[in-house]
Amino acid sequence: MTDAKTKGLGLLGQPVSHSFSPSIHNAISESLGLNYTYLAYDVDPDQLETAVKGLSALGYRGTNVTVPHKTNVMPFLTEIRREARIIGAVNTILFDNNRLIGYNTDCYGFTKMLEDEAVSLGNQRVLILGAGGAARAVVASCMLSKASEIYICSRSKSKSNEYVKEFNANQTNDIKWEALTYDEIASVNSRVDVVVNCTPLGMHPNEGRTPVDPSIFNKNCVLVDLIYNPARTEFLRIGESKGMKVINGLGMLIHQALEAYRIWTGQTQSAEFVKSALENRGII
Ligand code: NAP
Repeated sequence: MTDAKTKGLGLLGQPVSHSFSPSIHNAISESLGLNYTYLAYDVDPDQLETAVKGLSALGYRGTNVTVPHKTNVMPFLTEIRREARIIGAVNTILFDNNRLIGYNTDCYGFTKMLEDEAVSLGNQRVLILGAGGAARAVVASCMLSKASEIYICSRSKSKSNEYVKEFNANQTNDIKWEALTYDEIASVNSRVDVVVNCTPLGMHPNEGRTPVDPSIFNKNCVLVDLIYNPARTEFLRIGESKGMKVINGLGMLIHQALEAYRIWTGQTQSAEFVKSALENRGII
């Protein structure tokens, strides 16, 4: 029940109508008896600054930020936390009086999801498909977990090269990096331990598509898809049919949301609770 004391939480993106985030956050608030309400806002890029400052002026406690605003929002903030600076993107903002503080909880969400699945990236050779915003959080997770080799695959060699150059310059571990195009995957396919799809291929309107045929990888390889809707993309479906361990992005979504909620309210819930709330609402 909203009343005059209800505090706002939000999501800024475009589009946002497909998002699970309002259901997740409102279910958490309800379960904890906290007087927050979470709304999703479809914001044009040229209205982003007005939208962020507007939420702050209206006394919102926080907002999530999604595609295409995660990087463009950074200049409008007063502080940016270290992990968000390394990743180069903000997915969570805390409004703390006049401070607008940017965080990134995607790396945390990805790492926790793998932990739940008993998959460790330590000393593993990881192939990352796509060099967009979410891939940056996956790279950060690989670095923090001390992966031994990181292969970045992009449709553009110059883009994957740029990525490798930037992260290699920031690294404190002894990770081996390589930039690839899709044609070059054949040089590492039997070598990699974990493959992560960070492209939108497999979700609407690209259902039925996969960035690569997963049959080319070793049977012991773990396939991870950041997409959670559908639960089984073509990439995961083929891998599963070959007996590979497959993980979709639902756990990452849930854990990044729980961490954002903790930043805003200091309170948390269990991932199991969030998953069953989504099931009970017929969302998954
Ligand atoms: P993004 O910034 O738009 O990046 C996606 C990347 O995918 C692009 O940079 C591009 O990389 C590649 N790509 C795009 N279209 C492609 C195509 N037709 N064929 C091959 N590659 C293509 O998006 P994002 O924020 O990184 O999100 C990527 C995916 O992760 C989305 O499906 C999103 O829903 C999902 N995601 C999930 C979570 C979660 O919590 N589970 C969180 C964030 C994102 P190149 O140009 O380098 O090829």
